[in-house]
Amino acid sequence: MGVKTNRTAWRSLMAILKSAVVLLYLRLTGGPRMMTDNIFKKIIDRQIPAKIIHEDDQCLAFHDIHPQAPTHVLIIPKKVIRTHADIAAEDQMLLGHLHLVAQTLAMQLGLTAGYRLVLNCQEQAGQTVPHLHLHLLGGRPMGWPPG
Ligand code: 5GP
Repeated sequence: MGVKTNRTAWRSLMAILKSAVVLLYLRLTGGPRMMTDNIFKKIIDRQIPAKIIHEDDQCLAFHDIHPQAPTHVLIIPKKVIRTHADIAAEDQMLLGHLHLVAQTLAMQLGLTAGYRLVLNCQEQAGQTVPHLHLHLLGGRPMGWPPG
């Protein structure tokens, strides 16, 4: 066996070990997997349909496909920001805008008794779509702590 063959075998072994570590990590952390595909960007670009209830130059809001409450709307920036951990100082106005839109929609949707805003950041917190989004939930009593 030459040096080249040894190096190839070593690289393969390292790749297998790396995959095993990643799989073990995912198994131990348990949470849902984050999609590799940004499905929300496709909704922004109208490549896939959604029940859109608000659009302006900065954001889009639409009904969640698997609602967790009688009202479950997602508010997303048009700018692609992968997670909350990626926001920067330049996003301050945008984030405030998302909250004002959430408040307006909550009133328009009749959530006068209250509503909950949820933002899952990264896999362990339950984020599955790699595009920052606010969940606007309402229409039923909600427990605490959240799951
Ligand atoms: P996350 O788990 O990332 O905080 O929230 C992602 C949300 O997007 C989930 O509540 C899920 O039901 C919703 N969702 C995933 N794919 C689609 C889709 O194609 N259309 C719509 N309207 N909602 C989606």
